[in-house]
Amino acid sequence: MARRRLIYEGKAKILYEGPEPGTIVQYFKDDATAFNAEKKAVIEGKGVLNNRLSEHFMTGLNAIGVPTHFIKRLNMREQLVKAVEVIPLEVVVRNIAAGSISKRLGIKEGTPLPRPIVEFYYKDDSLGDPMVSEDQIVAFQWATPQDLDEMVAMALRVNDFLSGMMLAVGIKLVDFKIEIGRLFEGDFQRLIVADEISPDSCRLWDIETGQKLDKDVFRQDIGDLADAYTEVATRLGVMPKKSPPTGGPTLVK
Ligand code: UDP
Repeated sequence: MARRRLIYEGKAKILYEGPEPGTIVQYFKDDATAFNAEKKAVIEGKGVLNNRLSEHFMTGLNAIGVPTHFIKRLNMREQLVKAVEVIPLEVVVRNIAAGSISKRLGIKEGTPLPRPIVEFYYKDDSLGDPMVSEDQIVAFQWATPQDLDEMVAMALRVNDFLSGMMLAVGIKLVDFKIEIGRLFEGDFQRLIVADEISPDSCRLWDIETGQKLDKDVFRQDIGDLADAYTEVATRLGVMPKKSPPTGGPTLVK
């Protein structure tokens, strides 16, 4: 097969030119990074899990009318997606305090928030992705006020959908990050969910035990990241349940 033309290599994914104009092949790597790439590791199997999990979430969102870039999964590590013009913002939704909001505002991790909170961060690694206000976003023309209204509404729909999906398998959706892009269709443009949705970009806690099943396992060195993601995938029915060890072959008498 002809080598694909590389478009961009990021921390966890590689983007290649797709087979048709307006499409991109998204390849999920096993690389894990945290703290603005100060901490790095290769976690065998992470890319395969995130490819499957992102497919699962995006397919569900498409089905309830939240448009996403996802077209189809191609193989274990690659999916075909629609090319979008990236809006340089990370949209974070929080249900329970953790991570940066706990640190900045001194709210104890695990405190339920009075309502879901939507925040925007400017995507710039050299600046450490600073949080930005809606006024800054409009003034610097990263998005219009109308885009912002739409982005907040989309992010809250994603939150409701993912929260319900997780609750059904005994997991709390603490917070998550999505990226939104512009899709041009003739004279029209619409906003769609892009990038990935996976335990790399969510906080997921077991409802019963509080066990962390997301990238904090890597950030905080509290267990095996691939095991945590496998647990999420098996509970959601995305990966088959681990079959119990069968032992060696037995003699037929
Ligand atoms: N997040 C992400 N990419 C980033 C920053 C945050 O996917 O570059 C996710 C993170 O995994 C968490 C949520 O967004 O689910 C909120 O992250 P937070 O602001 O608490 O930052 P953190 O303390 O995780 O860096």
